[in-house]
Amino acid sequence: MKTIRETIAEGTAVLQNSDLSSDTPFLDALVLLSHTLEISKEKLLASYPDRIDKNHYDSYILSIKKRVLNYPVSYITGKKEFFGLTFHVNDKVLVPRPDSETLVESALDILNGSPDKFSILDLCTGSGAIGISLKHSIPGLDLLCSDISKEALEVCRKNSKSILGLEIQTCESNLFDKITGEFDIIITNPPYLTDIETSDMITKGLQEPPIALKGGKDGLDYIRIIIMEASGFLKEGGALLIESSIDQTERIAEIMFSEGYCSIKIIKDLTERNRVISGLRGSQ
Ligand code: GLN
Repeated sequence: MKTIRETIAEGTAVLQNSDLSSDTPFLDALVLLSHTLEISKEKLLASYPDRIDKNHYDSYILSIKKRVLNYPVSYITGKKEFFGLTFHVNDKVLVPRPDSETLVESALDILNGSPDKFSILDLCTGSGAIGISLKHSIPGLDLLCSDISKEALEVCRKNSKSILGLEIQTCESNLFDKITGEFDIIITNPPYLTDIETSDMITKGLQEPPIALKGGKDGLDYIRIIIMEASGFLKEGGALLIESSIDQTERIAEIMFSEGYCSIKIIKDLTERNRVISGLRGSQ
């Protein structure tokens, strides 16, 4: 049988020579082998001269073949790191992106120094990455996670149990349809890609749920509704925080302004690109 070194080299070469546009074929091959052998990447690197047995080799090659079909590495391993925590993921939820950590940090900036009895709604929660990361940082938060997808909420509840060690409140709801109550913060990473961006991703073999990405002609279909309806679910002075694409932030800030929000801010992500828009509900 092959050595670990040869096996990783083979996986990397298969990924490089496929139509898949992975920027990181070596890392993908490494992560998939460490997942197959159930050992850390560090241990794997230290085991280069060892030989791999046939069963592990076969299941590794199977996982490489899935990756060639554009399955995100996280769907194959079933997990993704976000905000220093390990989230379960499957093909019913979007894989949490590092960009969305900006959304979590923006909420923490508002919450810091405030009493931790704050109530938060994480709308379009998916895997729950945003809400659960916030509650992990501030355990006293009163958190409600909502999503239109029942299957996504199952993933969210599983994450809550494994990360927070408790059950959180979830609500199956098309945006605000089934939501009741008033919140200090409404935070959301809704679908915001344009129809063209989404169909381009589908053509390239997108395996993530289009329902989590597709936001209409200009990508703002859901964001417009959220801005209009959120004020009915925010306490006076409560904050709405929305993630979007870089080129949507100015337009979203304008919509928030015309809907009566105040203290509107555009917040940049780690790569200095506009990523989050926040605003406070004014008095009505
Ligand atoms: N940032 C995601 C992407 O570019 C889109 C997330 C979303 O639509 N909420 O794939």
